[in-house]
Amino acid sequence: MNKLIEVKNIFYKYPADEEDTENKQTDVLRGVSLDVGKGEFIAILGHNGSGKSTLARMLNGLILPDNGTVLVDGMDTADDEHIFDIRSRVGLVLQNPDNQLVTSIVEEDVAFAPENLGIKPKEIRKRVDEALRAVDMYEHRRSAVHKLSGGQKQRVAIAGILAMEPKCIVLDEPTAMLDPKGREEVLEAVTKLRTEQGISIVLITHYMQEATLADRIIVMDSGKILTQGTPKEVFSETELLLSHSLSVPQSSELIYKLKKAGFELPDGIVSDDECVDELVKLIKGV
Ligand code: ADP
Repeated sequence: MNKLIEVKNIFYKYPADEEDTENKQTDVLRGVSLDVGKGEFIAILGHNGSGKSTLARMLNGLILPDNGTVLVDGMDTADDEHIFDIRSRVGLVLQNPDNQLVTSIVEEDVAFAPENLGIKPKEIRKRVDEALRAVDMYEHRRSAVHKLSGGQKQRVAIAGILAMEPKCIVLDEPTAMLDPKGREEVLEAVTKLRTEQGISIVLITHYMQEATLADRIIVMDSGKILTQGTPKEVFSETELLLSHSLSVPQSSELIYKLKKAGFELPDGIVSDDECVDELVKLIKGV
C-alpha cells in the first residue's frame, strides 16, 4: 500500500484544567497505530468517548501526540515547519456545517481558504468552480448559505476543503445532523471524490451502512483499536462487536442470530441483498 498517513503508536491525554492540579486526566488514545493509503477509504467506528474525534484531529496536526508520531507524506505533524503543508494536504470536515461556513454566499465561502493563502484570483476561480462541481453544488454558487439544507451546507463545507486540493479528507460524523436525504447526498459526494479524484477518505460515523462502503473499517474502543479489516471481515466478528455493545448492520446481526440457532450460513454478510440471497437459499434448501 502506498502510504499517505502513518500513525505510529500514539498516546494522548488532554491537558488538565485549572482545578485538576494533579492532572487526573487519563489517556484517551492508548497506543494507536494505523496507516491511511493513498486513495483509500477508511471508516472509523466506536462508542462515544472511544477517541475517534481525538484521532481525527491528530491526522492533520490539530493536536499532537504526547508519545508516538503521525507522519503525513513523510512529514511529522510535530514539526512546525511542515504544519501548513500538512493542513492543506489533510482537510477536516466536522459534524456541524454551521461551524465551518464563514461567509454568507456559497462561492465566497469556498474561496475563503485559498484567498487566505494568497493564491491568484484566476486560480481561485478555477478551484472554486471545480470544487463546487465535484460536490454537485455548482448551480447554487451564488446562493445564500443560510438558505441551504443541512446536506447542501455540508457539501459546501467539503468544497471549501477541496479548494485547498487536499490528498485526504477526514470527516468527523459529517452526516450526524442530517436527514436521510442529506446523508445520502453527502455520502455520494464523498465516495465520488475517492473514485474520481483518488482522494483518501477517513470517515468517522455511527451509521453501519456508511461504514460498509469503506475499503477498511477500524473499530475504536477505550482509546485503542479493537479490531480492523474489510467490512466483511469486521462484521464477521459480530460476537466481539456485540459484546462491546457496538452495532453491526442489521443483516449481519440477523445472520449471526440464525447461525447461533443452528442454521448453516456464511460469515461476512453486510448488505440486505446478500442477506436476502442467503435466506432464499436456506428456505429453498439449496
Ligand atoms: P469520540 O469521538 O469517540 O466520541 P473523543 O475523541 O471526542 O471520542 O473523546 C475521547 C475522550 O476524550 C472522552 O472521554 C472525552 O470526554 C475526552 N475529551 C474530548 N475532548 C476533550 C477536551 N477538549 N478536553 C478534555 N477531554 C476531552
